[in-house]
Amino acid sequence: MKLYNTLTRQQDEVKPLLPPAISIYTCGPTVYDYLHIGNWFNYVRMDTLIRALQANGFTTNWVMNITDVGHLVSDADDGEDKLEKGARREGKTAWEVAEYYTADFLEAMQLLSIQTPDHIVKATDHIAEQITLIQRLEANGYTYVIDDGVYFDTSKFEGYAAFARLDLEEQQAGARISVNDQKRNQSDFALWKFSPVDSKRDMEWDSPFGGDRKGFPGWHIECSAMSMKYLGESFDIHTGGIDHIPVHHTNEIAQSEAATGQRFANYWMHSNHVMVNGEKISKSLGNGIRLQEIIAQGISAQATRLNILESHYRSQSKFSWDGLEAANNRLKHWQQVACLALQPQSNIPASEEQLITAEIAAATTDITAALFDDLNTPLMLSRLDEAFSIIEKQLLSPPTAQQFATLLTYIHTVLGIDLLVDIVAPNADDMKLMDRRRAARQAKEWDISDKLRYELANAGFGIRDLPSGATLWFKL
Ligand SMILES: [Zn+2]
Repeated sequence: MKLYNTLTRQQDEVKPLLPPAISIYTCGPTVYDYLHIGNWFNYVRMDTLIRALQANGFTTNWVMNITDVGHLVSDADDGEDKLEKGARREGKTAWEVAEYYTADFLEAMQLLSIQTPDHIVKATDHIAEQITLIQRLEANGYTYVIDDGVYFDTSKFEGYAAFARLDLEEQQAGARISVNDQKRNQSDFALWKFSPVDSKRDMEWDSPFGGDRKGFPGWHIECSAMSMKYLGESFDIHTGGIDHIPVHHTNEIAQSEAATGQRFANYWMHSNHVMVNGEKISKSLGNGIRLQEIIAQGISAQATRLNILESHYRSQSKFSWDGLEAANNRLKHWQQVACLALQPQSNIPASEEQLITAEIAAATTDITAALFDDLNTPLMLSRLDEAFSIIEKQLLSPPTAQQFATLLTYIHTVLGIDLLVDIVAPNADDMKLMDRRRAARQAKEWDISDKLRYELANAGFGIRDLPSGATLWFKL
């Protein structure tokens, strides 16, 4: 299986440290507000990676963090803590805000069929681990203390600029008058911040730093401390959004490798931006649509997931309501074809049976190859369109219906799209209506036939008449 690796800037064969086990760490949400659709593109893509690794025979150990403290409004380690800001906005404590939005996040994960990571870990539950890691950095000579906290001296970590191909001289020269002129280098970042002297934070802890002043961890240190705790000091794949590359992930690598002297993660996978009306979706631009708003418009979470899979994770994708609507229609069509798996027919010619068997086998091979080729989900979907357009023109014998059902299960496994969900086969009364309608058609009683079609539609079933005189049903 191949994956584009930001570390090497090329597609690399995925080779875990301890096969068949594979360890993955994903930077999770900062839980101070609802997530928007751009965030969900990110998490559905990470889930697709996990599904691909599993389909490839690896045993995944997936860790995702929940940032519930220390993520400041500005990447330059100043400004307010997003959680404290959320608390002020809602008249709650930072703890209550974190709890509420974490629950909302986990619920939406379920709706979008995103698998639950093996470990979902909160920064506030790992303060001791973060302090220990900062102490290791202190012992190795990478830290310094200024008025507002403990900082990492990026000039001491050789290769700091390598991962993101940063131009540090330009960064230093182009820096506006720094808010924090005690920082030695523009790129230095906070490992531990001291609580402000003039106000009390909801979330603060004692630490060995800064005397008796309480404080809280910087944003980046949590990911290093928690990934090391659950996956070891070196692990396989680290994932996140593309905007994590220049600051957050660069800092994670610096502090992790400065502490351990070992390679932190071997593969870095990044999900590209999602644009809406030509602009990047972001909370600050206020153009972020919530999953619940989409569902309220009658578009299911499954259709939303399909819409996300329609773009490649490395392309800059566009989100639009038209795109969602199109995905919804595609999903409906696929669900209608899927109903054929529940309607095996007798007396199918062997040549037709062979055609379907061969097509299902080829489609399975092709979508697997696309998945293992850097998660090419758009290609998987177009290949499935092709297969479904062939399958829907045929009648399926009991063995081919079974093969088709197996393909549907595989689609559910690798793409997280369950085409048979909510599909209940017609009951005895519905079947009677279908028989009566067939008889009416044979007798050329078109009015009666139309009336029965309407009754079946009320029961939730559409009807397809075949040239052979047989009738197939599908869910409306
Ligand atoms: Zn992170």
